[in-house]
Amino acid sequence: MSTIFHRIIKRELPADIVYEDEHLIAFRDIAPQAPVHVLFVPKVDVATLNDLQAGQAEVVGRLALAAAAYAKKEGFAEDGYRIVMNCNDDGGQTVFQIHLHLLAGAPLGRFGT
Ligand code: 5GP
Repeated sequence: MSTIFHRIIKRELPADIVYEDEHLIAFRDIAPQAPVHVLFVPKVDVATLNDLQAGQAEVVGRLALAAAAYAKKEGFAEDGYRIVMNCNDDGGQTVFQIHLHLLAGAPLGRFGT
């Protein structure tokens, strides 16, 4: 599997990287939908949430923990934020390597309104 995100991990494409460790990378979305819009991407290949195996709970857990840590470090954790994972066409997924969107920096409104 090779997606845009894999190419960012391999430094074949530029990105505004805000965090990286052995398990995941986080970088600013190229088309931000909120004042803060960061993508958290695991380094293990998982195309969609449907492909996540029972033994891979830590893959998504690490993304969530990294997003929360980033929110705390940047000082907006208490104001609040949203994390989103899109799955397949109806979910709006366009890059087929799982990732969390972290959206923050303004009141985001409620879903369905
Ligand atoms: P999805 O629609 O799959 O949930 O989210 C993919 C996200 O990746 C979109 O929000 C899109 O703006 C972002 N994106 C697509 N190509 C690039 C890129 O080359 N660099 C960065 N930083 N973000 C990208």
